[in-house]
Amino acid sequence: MKWRITLADLDYDDREIDAVVDVLRSKWLTMGKVTQRFEGQFADCVGAKHAFAVANCTAALHLALAVLDIGPGDEVIVPSLSFVATANAVLYTGATPVFADIASLDDLTLSPGDIERHVNEHTRAVIVMHYGGYSCAMEEIVEIARRHNVAIVEDAAHAPGTALAGKMAGTFGDIGCFSFFSNKNLATGEGGMVVTDRDDLSDRLRIMRSHGMTTLTWDRHHGHAHSYDVVDLGYNYRIDEIRSALGLAQLDKLAQNNVRRRELTAEYRRLLAGVPGFAMPFGKHPGTSACHLAPVILDEGVDRHAVFERLRDQGIQTSIHYPPIHQFSYYQRRLGSQRGLVPLTEAAGRREITLPLHPGMDVDDVTTVADALCSALQA
Ligand SMILES: *Cc1c(COP(=O)(O)O)cnc(C)c1O
Repeated sequence: MKWRITLADLDYDDREIDAVVDVLRSKWLTMGKVTQRFEGQFADCVGAKHAFAVANCTAALHLALAVLDIGPGDEVIVPSLSFVATANAVLYTGATPVFADIASLDDLTLSPGDIERHVNEHTRAVIVMHYGGYSCAMEEIVEIARRHNVAIVEDAAHAPGTALAGKMAGTFGDIGCFSFFSNKNLATGEGGMVVTDRDDLSDRLRIMRSHGMTTLTWDRHHGHAHSYDVVDLGYNYRIDEIRSALGLAQLDKLAQNNVRRRELTAEYRRLLAGVPGFAMPFGKHPGTSACHLAPVILDEGVDRHAVFERLRDQGIQTSIHYPPIHQFSYYQRRLGSQRGLVPLTEAAGRREITLPLHPGMDVDDVTTVADALCSALQA
């Protein structure tokens, strides 16, 4: 399929290519000074005290729960309207994911009230997900979590550069997790970052990322150490220098690309305002969004598959964010049938369609998509 307008696209040029070539010439391929620089600059960018680059965001989420000592018998409140990794990370630890509903069909992030409704004596943490780059209601969620002594892990896969009341996504809770997968705002193919302000967690995050070892190959190479101890059951969740180099090049472009995404989103809102048949969520959202996605919610009864096909016939790629996690067959088998559990999430899962949005688009592309959507709904 040759798309006229793709859902997402990479902003790659000679800067990424040169950065990779420099790493290859340096002959140091993993966890070296490029990674350290990437971690330092990323920490500055989001205003976090500590940042550790990891293999991907799924690893970041698992590490976050592991250093919080979450395990069997514990419950972690999660959104169901998210990528499956958000809940899988909980299952990896042996804990139980408990699904909470979204705030509304206009605000697709977790409802603070529904989080609180699910807190009980087994609840150890909540994973919030800043859907599409739009921040969750963090002021209320932090207050609820503090009151119940529940940790907050942020799945900020959509949200590098998202801000609310002067604070960046990933730094509201105890630990923030970012993804650099190919289709994200900052893309390295595979890759992720875990950030925290908590000094008591930072050493464990560092060590657990690399087999629970007290020293790294880098330190030994530089004569800082010649042996090591293993002090924890860690993982190999390391990133390599090539991806960190891509990450640095992409980080340089992030702010500007997020501005572009916001402009394109504003243009979608302008063109689609008042058009019958659907609504664009987050119209009155406070704060600054990284505008990772452009979701629309079709009216009840609109044939979503037909809309998808009509847009596809125009060369326009769309997607769904998300099929609810609790309705996947594995989750049904593992946790039991939970139909009706989170009704707003289920409605969004049936009625959402994601329009193309990436910084390589221009206003004409947005107009093309908006026109195609309007005629698809009239057909
Ligand atoms: C992409 C994504 C992930 C997983 O990220 P990986 O880096 O691919 O492991 C997790 N959560 C959300 C919401 C995502 O969009």
